[in-house]
Amino acid sequence: MKLICIGRNYTEHIEELKNERPSDPVIFLKPDTSILLKKQPFFIPDFSEDVHHEVEVLVKIKKVGKHIEEKFAHTYYDEIGLGIDFTARDLQSKLKEKGLPWEKAKAFDGAALIGDFIPKAAVADINNINFHLENNGKVVQQGNTSFMLWKIDALIEYISKYFTLKIGDIIFTGTPAGVSKVNPNDQLEGYLENKKVFSVKIK
Ligand code: ZN
Repeated sequence: MKLICIGRNYTEHIEELKNERPSDPVIFLKPDTSILLKKQPFFIPDFSEDVHHEVEVLVKIKKVGKHIEEKFAHTYYDEIGLGIDFTARDLQSKLKEKGLPWEKAKAFDGAALIGDFIPKAAVADINNINFHLENNGKVVQQGNTSFMLWKIDALIEYISKYFTLKIGDIIFTGTPAGVSKVNPNDQLEGYLENKKVFSVKIK
C-alpha cells in the first residue's frame, strides 16, 4: 500500500510557510515503512532539529481505481481518519531551496501517524468535518475540510490520473495552519469532530 500526500491544500498554511499558491494539487508519496506503529512513541530523528506536526484528514481507499471521475470518487472510500504528516522542516527547506525531492524530510521511518478511522456514514457532510490537534492539552492546530482548496473527491480525481489507487491506500489531504516544532515529552492528541482518534508521545 502507499500513502499519497497533498501539500498546500489550505490557504492559511500556504501563507504561514510563505509558499506559492499552487495551480494544481502538490503531491508526494510516503512508503509503507514510514508508518508509525500503533501505540509507539514518535522518536525525533537525529538528522533534524526542527520536526513539525502536520495534522491531516485521511481517506482510506476501498477499491482499485484509475482515472476516477470526481462524481464517482465517493464510491472509492467508506472511512475517514486523522493522522500526522511529520515533517523535518529544516531538511525540507534545504531541499526545497535546491529544487530537490522532499522524501528525506517527509518519508523517513515513523513520519506517518495514522489514527483510528470512522465510517464516512458517521459524518453528515464530508466537506464539513471539524478536526483539531492538541499538544499537552492545548489546541495547536484546527481545521475544517470545507477550507480545503481541493476537496476530497476532487483530490481522488486528480491523484488517480497519475497513480492507480489500490485497496488500503491512504490519502493525507493536507494540513491547516498552526504547524510547529515537536519536542521530547510532547503528547499529541488528534480529534475528528470531538472523537479522539490518536494519541502519541514524542521522544
Ligand atoms: Zn502535510
